Amino acid sequence: MLPYFHDLSLTAWLAEAAELGLTRVQALRIFRAVHRASTFPHVPESWTQIDAPPKQLARVAERFALAPLPKVVDKRVSEDYTIKFLLGLADGRNVEAVYIPEGTRGTLCVSSQVGCAMACDFCFTGKMGLHRHLRPHEIVGQYARARQELGNLEITNMVFMGMGEPLHNLDNVLTSLEILTNDYGHGVPPRRISVSTSGLLPAIKVLFEKTTVRLALSVNGPNPEKRLRVMPVEKAYPIEDVLAYLRARSEAVGNHHQAMFEYVLLGGENDSLEDAADLVRMLEGVPGRINLIPFNPHPGSPYLRPTDEAVDAFHAYLRAHDRNVFVRKSRGRDVLAACGQLHQQHERRKESIRAFLNSTH
Ligand code: SAH
Ligand code: SF4
Repeated sequence: MLPYFHDLSLTAWLAEAAELGLTRVQALRIFRAVHRASTFPHVPESWTQIDAPPKQLARVAERFALAPLPKVVDKRVSEDYTIKFLLGLADGRNVEAVYIPEGTRGTLCVSSQVGCAMACDFCFTGKMGLHRHLRPHEIVGQYARARQELGNLEITNMVFMGMGEPLHNLDNVLTSLEILTNDYGHGVPPRRISVSTSGLLPAIKVLFEKTTVRLALSVNGPNPEKRLRVMPVEKAYPIEDVLAYLRARSEAVGNHHQAMFEYVLLGGENDSLEDAADLVRMLEGVPGRINLIPFNPHPGSPYLRPTDEAVDAFHAYLRAHDRNVFVRKSRGRDVLAACGQLHQQHERRKESIRAFLNSTH
């Protein structure tokens, strides 16, 4: 089978195009036509349907195939208009993408892997283990499919906060980011994209070297000891090292490139005022907004949602200590919007259908 055109970065495509005897202008036009076409209501299934000179396309068609878009397996709209898509990939695996409208913004949250290898104790995706990395056409495909489905609802921002650890799938994520942000791709401004990571330091450095997207760091513990209790990755990449790097970087390049921090509040585990004080100490000198995310429980998880009082007190403590802090409302709770949970429900439904079929034979 031919490789997919949609898996090529622009740089890789330009090199291929030169070998095919296409000029740079022709190559750029084809790149744009192919990527724009994947957001059309009727996605082109053959090269003849792409808006570019047929003679040039014939040459491309000998080397590359058009990738299929993920299929919508399930779509749920929650009471707060969060729209959750369960998207089916060519090998039968599913991933999630979630659209979160808020004021003038519309944020699309995409997945980067099927499952995740990082095994954070509170995370449902972590419990699945890693099945596989997503390829660029499957990551950008979530954006293209969502654009189609959303019609007039605009996607103004993107976050890599769905299933998976984006920086564990660095090459494919970098290619996707190039396709998403380049003007000849989808033209999403890089500063409107946030990549969330559990803290893979070497990959964070590469991300900063190669892109200008925003970084969101999942902190989740007020100090290294408590973090290690819920995030095994702390052993390989200590948070103190990541923070030291970010501290030095913000001194070198200034505040406009500051990271953002995520802190999942686990009831009775990391949500006391003592924890808040530790967190302030640990983040000292590292600028960046802190997003508090009240834990969204899932069946079988040993943690509790924090009480509203604990969330308010934690929030107030950070504010009183001059941290820019927000509580992320759990959006779309009624459609199970936390990481990996629609997928889980779908798997259960498949299981019960299978059980039903078995019992009738
Ligand atoms: N792997 C990346 C991105 C995906 S997880 C990372 O960990 O940053 C995105 C965010 O969801 C992370 O901050 C994670 O801590 C949080 N999260 C995972 N499971 C959650 C749950 N059940 N409730 C609330 N937040 C959760
Ligand atoms: Fe993976 Fe992020 Fe879940 Fe941790 S929180 S298991 S890194 S998806």
